[in-house]
Amino acid sequence: MKKFYCGAVVPGCQTTFLADSEEQILAKVATHAREAHGMEEVGDEVVAQVRANIRETG
Ligand SMILES: [Zn+2]
Repeated sequence: MKKFYCGAVVPGCQTTFLADSEEQILAKVATHAREAHGMEEVGDEVVAQVRANIRETG
């Protein structure tokens, strides 16, 4: 499983994501970014930051 903590990119956000692949994490983050942070699009820079902060877990 892979894990991403939104607070790593958006300080103060407590949301965490768990998924089997980076692509699934990025899909969940895209929805969350739009609904919770008002980001219409997750640009390349944000995707790079998300990828850099994805961790392997259990
Ligand atoms: Zn967030």
